[in-house]
Amino acid sequence: MSVTLLGLPWDGSSSFQRGAAEAPARIREALNSASSNTWNERGDDVSTPSMLTDAGDLMLPDDAAAARAAIEEGVREVLESGAKPLLLGGDHSVTYPVLRAFASRLSPLTVIHLDAHGDLYDEYPLPAARSTDAASTATGDRYSHACPFARIMEERLAARLLQVGVRTLTAHQRSQAAKFGVEILGAERWREALPLIARAKAPIYLSLDLDVLEPMLAPGVSHPEPGGLTIRDVLEVFSAFRVSLAGADIVEYNPRNDFRDLTARVAAKFVKELVALLSSRSSASR
Ligand code: MN
Ligand code: MN
Repeated sequence: MSVTLLGLPWDGSSSFQRGAAEAPARIREALNSASSNTWNERGDDVSTPSMLTDAGDLMLPDDAAAARAAIEEGVREVLESGAKPLLLGGDHSVTYPVLRAFASRLSPLTVIHLDAHGDLYDEYPLPAARSTDAASTATGDRYSHACPFARIMEERLAARLLQVGVRTLTAHQRSQAAKFGVEILGAERWREALPLIARAKAPIYLSLDLDVLEPMLAPGVSHPEPGGLTIRDVLEVFSAFRVSLAGADIVEYNPRNDFRDLTARVAAKFVKELVALLSSRSSASR
């Protein structure tokens, strides 16, 4: 089954900085850069069309609710085509509509979520600069990029949520995690996730927030959080999976904070390696 790359250029639910909407184009540039090649470590050439198809970016309206509906519909179309979606955010709010599209077809879904943050807030304020945009902002944004996993668990879009690399939980988020039965292996215990991932049952979705990494290794994010994983640590998490993924996203790349495209290259590397996790092993690889 082939993988479809789809960009979700949305940063209207970012609580601190815009810029993540510019990510898909910059990740593609890094992916296609002559500075590297298109082969992953398993031995797949991801430029092979039967391996990876680029569906471009969804055109998203400015209105957040309309954008969520467009994301849900766009991902549903990829699933109906029989391909596996590999989504490029965009801020992390996109994962909620993405998993709405998944839930109608693939359940019970296990979600593995790599992030410095739990993203479990019941609601979160939008930046002051946008507080006059709409009446709803006065009460906080329930669809902020700080909230997607609260919505996902409330709607039971995931039967199981395992968070890896988290290191910023507030008391509120700890109580949300307890309420929803979220399994959390923080940055100090990430290796303990490996046997759990090895035993996880399909279907599995992987959501990768780039701020799970040590900020020095991936400076182009909106919420850099020291004490993170290395790129090789994340690849070790990838190698723990024993079943093919049903879908995946790479979110929160913010090119405006990047340095010499370092983080774009990291995201492009993860695209190549995730293609291996999403597709069955190619005959050429062994
Ligand atoms: Mn996140
Ligand atoms: Mn994060």
